[in-house]
Amino acid sequence: LWASMPCQPRRISVCVRKRPLNQQEAELNDTDVVTVSCQGMVIVHEAKQKLDLTQYLNNQVFRFDHAFDDHATNELVYRHTAQPLVDIIFQGGMATCFAYGQTGSGKTHTMRGNISSKGIYVLVAEDVFRRLQYPNYQKLELWVYGAFFEIYRGKVFDLLNRKKRLRVLEDGKKQTQVVGLCEEEVTSVEDVIRLIETGSNCRMAGQTSANTQSSRSHAIFQMILKKRGQLYAKFSLIDLAGNERGADVTTADKQTRLEGADINKSLLALKECIRALGHNKTHTPFRASKLTQVLRDSLIGENSYTCMIATVSPGMRSCEHTLNTLRYANRVKEL
Ligand code: ADP
Ligand code: MG
Repeated sequence: LWASMPCQPRRISVCVRKRPLNQQEAELNDTDVVTVSCQGMVIVHEAKQKLDLTQYLNNQVFRFDHAFDDHATNELVYRHTAQPLVDIIFQGGMATCFAYGQTGSGKTHTMRGNISSKGIYVLVAEDVFRRLQYPNYQKLELWVYGAFFEIYRGKVFDLLNRKKRLRVLEDGKKQTQVVGLCEEEVTSVEDVIRLIETGSNCRMAGQTSANTQSSRSHAIFQMILKKRGQLYAKFSLIDLAGNERGADVTTADKQTRLEGADINKSLLALKECIRALGHNKTHTPFRASKLTQVLRDSLIGENSYTCMIATVSPGMRSCEHTLNTLRYANRVKEL
């Protein structure tokens, strides 16, 4: 009997993905201090110094629902994170997948992917359009829409409409709405790929290097299912701002400091909201940040499912950020 039961995903699942040591790190003689072992175990070998100045390695062990080493493909990561949630949206539930981690640790690689490796945005789209062909799901008469926006310093910008600034309103039923957000109808995976390209180009426009502004904003891509013009379900895929930005609060530059403070605030609120979902708490601090405010309907209720992919760099030089990422992810885990 058990074997024939459909596998119901967990309300909250948290996994870790380690990227390979890159050429730049290799040239700097950086060493790999992160070991991923079976059953979701991640070990960080932190270099420490004794009072007599001798060096030793302090192993810190964490356990998650899954842990992926540097050989894992986007497809493998997808299979254990976002894919189980695709059926949830066809049942009318809300699904969310976050990529969380330091800038350069692989969030965009995982979510958007590149020419040689599809990211989770496209992998979800493929599964959504495949399922629309199932007779059971065909009966639902669902229409699919895509939306893509960014949150920077507590403001929402539409990536499908030349970064138009949008307002967020709460209606009488405590539902939040991003007013005027472009929701483009999509009828194929190719349509979705075009939207992702439009949105990503818009996100990068005016930037000097690949990782300047985009690492300080949260990018939210949504696949929306509608039935007779009404919202049926939503899958939100989020490439979060680099979590090391929160540490910038001590820099001299005011702009950077304010960005850092805002990122800190939103990542903290996100952690609390996900924890509340896992503990069935009634009070959830949605209003504490724009990020949690716009995700409110996805992070609340009996039919909401969330997965987090914490991405880490393997190098000794990133050790402190890696430990911060793992500690955060550990707190988000369902007990
Ligand atoms: P982030 O979005 O977290 O700032 P990126 O996704 O841009 O980081 O990754 C930084 C660099 O590392 C990119 O050049 C990316 O292609 C590469 N990279 C990240 N993760 C992997 C991976 N798992 N395998 C191979 N290359 C990766
Ligand atoms: Mg990125």
